[in-house]
Amino acid sequence: MLLVGLTGGIGSGKTEVARRLAALGAVIVDADAIAREVVEPGTSGLDQVVAAFGPGVLTADGRLDRDRVAAVVFTDPDARARLNAIVHPLVRARTAELVIAAADADPHAVVVNDVPLLVETGLAAAGHYDAIVVVAADPATQRRRLVEQRGMAPADADARIAAQAPLADKLAVADYVVRNDGDLDALDAQVEQVWAHLAARAGRTMRA
Ligand code: ATP
Repeated sequence: MLLVGLTGGIGSGKTEVARRLAALGAVIVDADAIAREVVEPGTSGLDQVVAAFGPGVLTADGRLDRDRVAAVVFTDPDARARLNAIVHPLVRARTAELVIAAADADPHAVVVNDVPLLVETGLAAAGHYDAIVVVAADPATQRRRLVEQRGMAPADADARIAAQAPLADKLAVADYVVRNDGDLDALDAQVEQVWAHLAARAGRTMRA
């Protein structure tokens, strides 16, 4: 099994890269999806968040109101630390379960852990991954995608981009860089090249 960290700035194209790697044979372990799963209704994760922040963080149908939580932690570092102290260990545990299951199912699996904040959370420095893939896009490209394809206000897009570690910090931990300022064909070609390296390192037999 080869454990790969995949990261990049907001709107850089991580999801597009993950989708292509999955089509080529990778197992994707999506940190954002897991972070939602561990606070689904009925989980101890949600109980802990409500105990820490009060029932005001729930929607009328008992789900976590993610916008409200985001608004609270965006301006309050202590609240953010409390939330992370609940959610991060749950995400780590569930991630480990999924990685172990993938390795059990296929000893030559390439497991790609898609983690938007891989650098910001210190995971990249922890030596946890066999390889790190960074999707790199210029801030101007990120901004254009967030505004045109996500309908974000330009000032919000700028604030979200500025709140993350700069691209240079991400590039500093990269074993493989996928440049995504061009079109999707250019992305395909690069992902195929990176996959060839990853698959070889995992001992996968390449198809002709
Ligand atoms: P986030 O961190 O916000 O989840 P992301 O890094 O996963 O973002 P994507 O969702 O993959 O980014 O890409 C952002 C948007 O830009 C999507 O609508 C995606 O389809 C589009 N996109 C990504 N790469 C390209 C490209 N090379 N050409 C055209 N559109 C692209």
